[in-house]
Amino acid sequence: EDRAKNREMQPATYTLDNRRIRLLANINLLSEIHLARELKAEGIGLYRTEFPFLIRSGFPSEDEQYLIYKGLFDKTEPGTVTTVRTLDAGGDKVIKHTDFIQEANPALGLRSIRFSLKYRQIFRTQIRAVLRAAHGKEKVRLMFPLISSIDEFLEAKQVMAECIRQMEQEGVPHKSDPEVGIMIELPSVLATIDEFAQLTDFFSIGTNDFIQYMLGADRGNKLVADHYIPYHPAVNRGIAKIVAAAIGHGIDVSVCGEMAHDPEHIPFLLGVGITTLSVAPKFLPRVQAAVMETSFSRASAYAHRLLAQTRVKDAAAVLKTGPGK
Ligand code: PEP
Ligand code: MG
Repeated sequence: EDRAKNREMQPATYTLDNRRIRLLANINLLSEIHLARELKAEGIGLYRTEFPFLIRSGFPSEDEQYLIYKGLFDKTEPGTVTTVRTLDAGGDKVIKHTDFIQEANPALGLRSIRFSLKYRQIFRTQIRAVLRAAHGKEKVRLMFPLISSIDEFLEAKQVMAECIRQMEQEGVPHKSDPEVGIMIELPSVLATIDEFAQLTDFFSIGTNDFIQYMLGADRGNKLVADHYIPYHPAVNRGIAKIVAAAIGHGIDVSVCGEMAHDPEHIPFLLGVGITTLSVAPKFLPRVQAAVMETSFSRASAYAHRLLAQTRVKDAAAVLKTGPGK
């Protein structure tokens, strides 16, 4: 009965022409979950696990992490999706006690899934902690960041399988069948995007890094802010290709980068077929309003117009006119 009630209370956001859009929350700290629920997020589309790693002087133990992730699963609404991203160390998220790594070019260095695959024990510890905390939970999704190749995805998934086998042998209660997906952040995955869609359970497009790496422009450097162009034809066509592959293979695809909370870009994202946006909780009302003002059929025609452009200046002109009312 409780469950029926929960479902009834599930908020829903629709476009003007009644296309259902699911709005999820990006969470950095457990304390943000409260606001996400209050503002009617339909689940967690991105839980960034870095913060406990950023504030401690060493790496958090399996039990320390277990308690944090348990807090996450306990605080989320029953029956809603919870997406946990494995450690996204390095790049713009420098972990203090990784100062044994000296790099001239950290954005292109040993970061994210590369770090996890090199320091296997840290990766295993985290995966075990997440899956232990997720025991008995539904709709748990494990997500690997900065995947650059199918090989890398399969290697990460293999580590997860080993952790599960080990916990089975030890009799440790855990979630043995999470959905496993990837962040789309590197342009290299475009070439094999159909194969990725066959092998993964979901995609989440991290436009912050996707734009940075697609255009070779540092996401945090004001000097190249003019080169960081979310509506660049290569970015537009890349996103359209990713969404088409996901839809073609029947897997879930969402956008969790900052483009997802920008009313200027939401019509394009909906127009190419995105039906799930994941944003920082404070942006939920703004995104709900933007979706409700958008007609999917107009957004779709508008996305086609944008995708037809080959020049940045022409794309900018189309962007300026918007999808129309
Ligand atoms: C992204 O790259 O768009 C993303 C959501 O991840 P982060 O901002 O944590 O790098
Ligand atoms: Mg990223």
